[in-house]
Amino acid sequence: MYEVTPTHTFMGGLDHNCDLLESLTTVCTSKGIKLARVEAIGAVKKAALGYYDQDKKEYSYFVIDRHLEIISLVGNISLKDGKPFVHAHITLADDQGNSYGGHLIPGTIIFACEVIIQAFAGPEFKRELEPITGLPLWAKINS
Ligand code: ZN
Repeated sequence: MYEVTPTHTFMGGLDHNCDLLESLTTVCTSKGIKLARVEAIGAVKKAALGYYDQDKKEYSYFVIDRHLEIISLVGNISLKDGKPFVHAHITLADDQGNSYGGHLIPGTIIFACEVIIQAFAGPEFKRELEPITGLPLWAKINS
C-alpha cells in the first residue's frame, strides 16, 4: 500500500443533461486533480454501464434507458496516459427500489448530481496492463 495525504476537498453539483463520467473528468482536469477519491448521489435520466467478464477478459456494456436514483457512486482518480482518469462504480435504483449497478461508462446522463472529491498528495499512481486480469490496474504493493 502507498501512503497518501488528504489535501483538498471539492464539493458541488454537476450540470443537468450532461454526461456523468465526462463531467467528473472535466472537474478533475480543471482543478488539477491527479489523485483522489470520489463519491456522489443524485439521479440520472439514463445509465450506461459495463460488466467485466473475467473469463473473456473483456467488458460487456449495457444501457438502462430509464430514470434512476444514484444510490451510490464511488470511485478513484489517478493518471492514465498522463491525464486524470476517473474509475467509478455506481449503484442505481428504480421506483420500486430495485437496484442496478456496474462500471460507469460514457452515456450516463445527469438529472441531478452532488459530488464530493477528496484529493490526495502522494506518489504518482499509474495504470498498467496486468496480464492475469487483462485490466489496466495500479501497481501492486503487498506489504
Ligand atoms: Zn470498474
